[in-house]
Amino acid sequence: MSKIRIGIVGYGNIGRGVEAAIKQNADTELVAVFTRRAPESITVKTPNVKVVEIKDASKYVNDIDVMILCGGSATDLPVQGPEFAAMFNIVDSFDTHAKIPEYFEKINNAASAAKKTGIISVGWDPGLFSMIRMISGAILPVGNDYTFWGKGVSQGHSDAIRRVAGVKSAIQYTVPIDEAISSVRRGSNPELTTRQKHIRECFVVAEDGADKAKIEADIKNMPNYFADYNTIVHFITEEELKRDHSKMPHGGFVFRSGKSGFENENNHIVEFAIKLDSNPEFTGNVLVAYARAAVRMNKEASFGAKTVFDVPLSYLSAKSHAELIKELL
Ligand code: NDP
Repeated sequence: MSKIRIGIVGYGNIGRGVEAAIKQNADTELVAVFTRRAPESITVKTPNVKVVEIKDASKYVNDIDVMILCGGSATDLPVQGPEFAAMFNIVDSFDTHAKIPEYFEKINNAASAAKKTGIISVGWDPGLFSMIRMISGAILPVGNDYTFWGKGVSQGHSDAIRRVAGVKSAIQYTVPIDEAISSVRRGSNPELTTRQKHIRECFVVAEDGADKAKIEADIKNMPNYFADYNTIVHFITEEELKRDHSKMPHGGFVFRSGKSGFENENNHIVEFAIKLDSNPEFTGNVLVAYARAAVRMNKEASFGAKTVFDVPLSYLSAKSHAELIKELL
């Protein structure tokens, strides 16, 4: 059987994670990496894979089955997503939660008109966590959802800080508040505000001569990302950033604390947890599984924008349906 031919758009952390994931999946192959930077400035790890200027991507419409978009959610994907969905099947990990409906609409218009399939907001949150919340909420309609992230680096938030004027480099840790997690596990169904669940801790390298007070205010007041949290901003040197913050671990918990019984007399707690050594590599693995699904859905003429809610679970797997049903138990 021929392999699924994949292109990577944007070669940052997620782009490299996707490249590693493609190597692990025998039914996929990497055709080319597309970048806005000078191609000769980028060295990919996969032998014989071309690095191509992004403006030449349209020449590859017959050579690539699905493009995995690995740009940042803050400013890259809102532009690249609709452009690429008009030419290719796409998968991305768009994670600006409040803007997902608007982004979905744009991808849906572009992909539907071009008879392409675009699976958006794939990863772990949004992505796997969204699925668990949806499934457990459908099963336990009387109850509450709780999601905690970290401690770990949020790439979406780090990316957003790096776009602030005067910031040279930055990393952001999301830190769950222990007491909040314990109260959910106890089944006490607490009402927690955003601020009571996590703090956001930022380590920022400023450009020479930048106004640090302004940078700090710009970060803390950023809507959707920081405005609803207690945010701590530390200014550090480039050396400190490299020495102390070069790994990208992450993780998190999704809980559904629900009730059953005629009088809602019994409690149930659903808990799903992940602990990741490398957030971008794990997210890359999720993206590749969904790339497989995008190609399959497109062959079945299921065009337009999709989310994790719209993809049949079995389409993620390289195994056949006959093999999968043997694994139901
Ligand atoms: P990066 O900042 O590493 O990369 C973003 C883009 O910036 C790349 O596509 C690349 O584009 C460009 N870039 C990368 N390195 C450099 C460099 N050295 N100099 C100049 N440009 C560079 O972001 P991440 O890969 O860490 O994250 C991308 C997005 O993934 C995040 O914004 C987040 O929204 C999302 N994400 C979603 C998750 C989920 O669960 N849904 C989980 C994790 C991340 P180009 O090659 O064109 O220059």
